[in-house]
Amino acid sequence: MSEDERKDLEIYDREFRGWLPERLFDAHVHLFDETNFPLGFELPKKSCVRKFGGTFTLEQWRAGAAELLPEQDCSLLCFGTPDKAADLAAADKYIGSVVDNERVFGMALLSPKENIDEVRRRVEEYKLIGYKPYLNFVDWKPVNEAEIFDMLTDEHMSYADERGLVVTLHIPRSARLADPVNQRQMVEICDRYPNAKIIFAHIGRAYFMNNVIGNLAEIAKRPNAYLDTAMINHEGILEYAFNNFPRERILFGSDAPIAFLRGKSVEINNQYVYLMAEDYQIGTAIYDSGNAVVFTTFFYEQLRGVKAAAEKAVLSDREIRGILHDNAAELLDGVLSGSRA
Ligand SMILES: [Zn+2]
Repeated sequence: MSEDERKDLEIYDREFRGWLPERLFDAHVHLFDETNFPLGFELPKKSCVRKFGGTFTLEQWRAGAAELLPEQDCSLLCFGTPDKAADLAAADKYIGSVVDNERVFGMALLSPKENIDEVRRRVEEYKLIGYKPYLNFVDWKPVNEAEIFDMLTDEHMSYADERGLVVTLHIPRSARLADPVNQRQMVEICDRYPNAKIIFAHIGRAYFMNNVIGNLAEIAKRPNAYLDTAMINHEGILEYAFNNFPRERILFGSDAPIAFLRGKSVEINNQYVYLMAEDYQIGTAIYDSGNAVVFTTFFYEQLRGVKAAAEKAVLSDREIRGILHDNAAELLDGVLSGSRA
C-alpha cells in the first residue's frame, strides 16, 4: 500500500466509517475500453485518462471504489467518455456489455446528429436507461454559444419522453446555471417532455456560490428535474442545494475516473479552480508542482462536502441514504418498470 493510500484509509476511518451507508450509488461514472476512441487516436499529453492506461473499465472502477469504499456495496450509472473523437456506437456497445440493470445501469452517448432509429436501436439492444448528450458534439457554432436544444433534438427527446428515459445533461454556456438562456431551456425541456427525467449534472455546473444562489428555484418546481453532485465538493453549494431543491431528487455522483485523481475544487473570487496534486489538464487546473500540500482524492473531497453540508442543512439519516443511494436506485427502478409495463 502506498503512503497516499494509507492516508486515505485514515480519512475513511476517521470521517466516513459509520457515516456512509452500506450501499452507495454513484450516478455519474465514465466507463470505456479501448474501443471508445478510434484506432490511432492519441490522447492529449495531459489527459487524465493516461493515468488509467487509456481505459477506465468496470473492473478499474470496481478496484478504485473498493479501495476508497472498503465496506460499501456500490452501484453505478455509467456512460462512455464524450470526447469529440469518440466512436459513439462502440462506446455504447461497451456500456451495454457491462450493464446488468441491477447494480450497473448505462446510458448512450448522444450527438445531436445521431439518427433517432440508431439511438433507439442502441438503447433497446444494449438495455440502456437513457442518454448522455454533450456539448462537444455541437460543432457548428462556438462552444460557448451552444444551447441545450442544440445538444439533442426534439426526436431524441420525444423518444425519451415516450419511454420515460433519463437524460444526464451537462448544461452549456459560460454562465452555466446562471445563464438566462439555460434557465429558460432547463424549464422548457422538463415541461415539454414531462415523462423524461432530466438530471442536471454537477448541480448545473455551479461550482461557486454566486452561480447557484437563486438559480435552482424554477427547476426545483419541475417534478422530473434531478441534480447530480458530480465534482462538487464545495459544502456551501451542496448545502444550498439541500435547502433549495427537493432532497429526494438529488443524486450523488463522482465523475470517475476524474474523481479518482488527487485534488480539490476551490472557489476563488467568483470562479473555481481544480487544485491538482497531479499534472493532468482538467478544466481550469492549477498544479501543485512544489507539493505544497498533501491531497486526497476528489472522491473523498466530494464525500466530505456532502457530509459537512448534510450536517449544516440537518439532513435525516434517511435523506442522506437517499442522496448517497436510494434516490438513484428508485429513479432507475422506475425507468425499468416503466419500460417493462
Ligand atoms: Zn462527467
